[in-house]
This record gives sequence, C-alpha cells and structure tokens, in this order.
Amino acid sequence: FKNILKMGKIITIANFKGGVGKTTSAINIGSGLSRRRKKVLLVDMDPQYNLTQSLGITDPQQTIYQALINKAQIKPIEKTKGLDVLPSSLELIRAEIELSGELKREYILSNIIAPFKPIYDFIIIDCPPSLGLLTLNSFFASDYIYIPIEAEYLALKGYTILNEAINKIGLEIDKVFITKYDSRKILNRNVTESIKENLGHKAFKTVIRDNISLAEAPAKGVDIFTYNDKCNGAQDYFYLTKEVISHCKTGK
Ligand code: ADP
Ligand code: MG
Repeated sequence: FKNILKMGKIITIANFKGGVGKTTSAINIGSGLSRRRKKVLLVDMDPQYNLTQSLGITDPQQTIYQALINKAQIKPIEKTKGLDVLPSSLELIRAEIELSGELKREYILSNIIAPFKPIYDFIIIDCPPSLGLLTLNSFFASDYIYIPIEAEYLALKGYTILNEAINKIGLEIDKVFITKYDSRKILNRNVTESIKENLGHKAFKTVIRDNISLAEAPAKGVDIFTYNDKCNGAQDYFYLTKEVISHCKTGK
C-alpha cells in the first residue's frame, strides 16, 4: 500500500547551451541519488544520446524514440542497482519533425513517464542543447527544472534569456548550479559570486568543480562514483544530491 502512495519527483536538466554539463550532471546526480538508496530512472531525450553512450549502453533494443512515436511504454535498462535508463538513439532526431503535426505533442513524454512515477523516487531527464519539441516535452513532464551553468562571461545573461523563454510557456526555473568551476580562474570566482548574489535561493550551494575524472568516466561507460569514488567530482555530485533531496522534499 505504501508503494502505491509513493510518487517520484521528475527533474529536467536543461540549457540551450551545449557543453555546460547537462549530461554529466544527469548521470551523476542520478547515480548519487541511487547511492543514497533512492530508486532512479534516467531518461535520455538527446538525439546525440551522450547519456546512453556514457553509461556504456550500445544498440539498445528499445529507445525513447519508439516510445514517443508509438505512444507506448518501453522497458528501462538496469545500469547499476537502483539506477535504470530509458536510452536514446540517433533516430530521435526525426521525432521533432514526425511529432510536429500532432495534437498535444508537448505532452507525449509526460504520458509515457506517468506510469513510472510510482515506481521510482527520482526520474531525471537529460535534454538536447535546444528549446525544441524534445525539451518542451521534458519540461511539461517534469516537476522541477534545473539549469547547469558555467561560471563564465555572459553566464547571467544566458540565464536571463533562458528564464524568459521558460516563463513564456508558463513554467519557471527551479534551481541553477555551477559546473566546471576552477578556483584558479578569477573570472570563475567573480561570476560565481555574482550568480549566487543575483539568484539567491535559486542557486544550489554546491558548486561542481572542474575535474578530469568527470570527463574520463564516460569513456569507461560508468558514473563518477564507480569510476573514482574519492575524486572532487564524486564529492561534489554527492553533496549536490543531498541538496536535491532536500529541495524535492521541502520545495526550498
Ligand atoms: P552537455 O550535456 O551540457 O553538452 P556534458 O555533460 O556532455 O555537457 O559536458 C561537456 C564536456 O565537458 C564533456 O566532455 C564532459 O565530460 C566534460 N565535463 C562536464 N562536467 C565537467 C567537470 N565538472 N569537469 C571537467 N569536465 C567536465
Ligand atoms: Mg548532453
């Protein structure tokens, strides 16, 4: 009976910029949560299928493309204990066009994911670097929208534009977090300070440092905790998941 009442939280990780750490964060927030004994489903909504590939999943039998086109559930792949994946493939690129004429086309993913909500504690969706139909589907399927940003020149400007675009469709950004942070770079330090000042409670306290292990783990097809449990990247994502759990519980 308890299980029936359980309703997982759905988090979309998005940014219309590429290379900011969306996929890295989806994987490692997901695996961090599973290390905290949460049951997690990762959903790869990017036709470049980096998340699928980075977890060493090759030629999956069923992909999110088939689910979207056939309006049918697909079976998740178990990656590690408590961490399952709905994989993507290159053919997902066709979905934008093939679904463009359908009614309620922004809600297809939401319907596909709904039956998973009682089964998982967290469902994490990784998006392509655009605000097209795939990202819209992810937004409308999710409870929360998280935005990873790099502490660079124009970071806040990019955030403002993204925020406006998301507000226009009646949604809002729930949390922002900084990735690839290098304390030796004065610019990184200054921008991080101004992001925290400007965004207040919308910014997670945890900052994800620039860490080579995070870039190496995908080549081994594993998450950061499996690759190197002791590195800064593992530490940072582990702390971040603590904030994620608290945010999803309290809304703060
Ligand atoms: P996105 O999904 O936003 O395009 P990725 O997660 O694929 O971004 O990251 C882009 C590149 O940067 C990848 O090669 C990834 O391994 C690397 N990367 C991501 N986060 C970090 C980090 N904190 N430190 C070092 N490299 C990182
Ligand atoms: Mg990506």
